[in-house]
Amino acid sequence: QKEQLLKLVEVPSVTQDGVAMMLAANISSLKELETALGNGAEGVGLFRTEFLYMDRTRFPTEEEQFEVYKTAVQKLKGKSLTIRTLDIGGDKQLDYHELPEEENPFLGFRAIRFCLEHKDLFKTQLRAILRASHYGNVKIMYPLITSVEEVREANRLLEEAKRELTAEGVPFLTEIKAGVMIEVPAAVAIADMLAEEAAFFSIGTNDLIQFTLAVDRMNERISHMYEPFHPAILRMIRTTVQAAKTKGIPVSICGEIAGDVNALPIWLGMGIEVLSLSAQAILPLKERVLHSRASDGRYVFEEMLRCATAGEIKDLARRYFAEAA
Ligand code: PEP
Ligand code: MG
Repeated sequence: QKEQLLKLVEVPSVTQDGVAMMLAANISSLKELETALGNGAEGVGLFRTEFLYMDRTRFPTEEEQFEVYKTAVQKLKGKSLTIRTLDIGGDKQLDYHELPEEENPFLGFRAIRFCLEHKDLFKTQLRAILRASHYGNVKIMYPLITSVEEVREANRLLEEAKRELTAEGVPFLTEIKAGVMIEVPAAVAIADMLAEEAAFFSIGTNDLIQFTLAVDRMNERISHMYEPFHPAILRMIRTTVQAAKTKGIPVSICGEIAGDVNALPIWLGMGIEVLSLSAQAILPLKERVLHSRASDGRYVFEEMLRCATAGEIKDLARRYFAEAA
């Protein structure tokens, strides 16, 4: 089985009716990048940079970060690398930096909120990413965006970092794209407005499901309610995708659900052509892509939108594959 799948590493990820579904990887370290490339990743859609900040005694310097990002870019040999800025807080703590005790850490001082209050730390990371962008195809992505102001402020700091580097004579990709994660219901509701400020969207379903369904993603007691196929989630994703398409910016999916083979008809149905998933999920999903027809996906997806329950949506997904097989 595993050997059969490994034969697909070099096979282009295209449906039977010719629709390319780019399969990029989510990674959290350079080691995971190796695994991802070994599994045929066509790029990195989400580089979680928290590991650089955790398990150590102080914030990483610009130089330390630059070395890691540059190594990643070079290993990718022209394939795209989307680096997400620090998403600390929530469940992720730093030993060397006191974060406030919070009743609801997932709704608390984290991610872009932390970065916009620690502008020096944020700019250090932006500078490191910019410097690495000189060596390949790098994009920047901001996590946990809930408002247009946050994107403008982050982009303002990015421009500031660019001006500094220019003044210092340090090269970088001047046209670097900065996009946002759509992982909070507020961001979905203003997706059309965010699309005016962001170069691309990446839908983070892990948090989007948690916040939309009000189900703590770490709470075992209610894990049965954490339902990616809930009709509300389908609608949230569709709203986001429609806003992106209307405004003409790219949109991809980078939550865990991207790696669920049963969700494939949803992406085909919505016309999503880039998924970012964990390395181990790439080849099993590619096998399904090769056996799918995008035109059938569109038909199944229309039917899914009429379903009132997750159970019905999942039944449709399973039937889709039973018929394709
Ligand atoms: C997400 O929320 O879907 C996501 C990809 O980010 P993380 O899992 O790191 O919160
Ligand atoms: Mg998230």
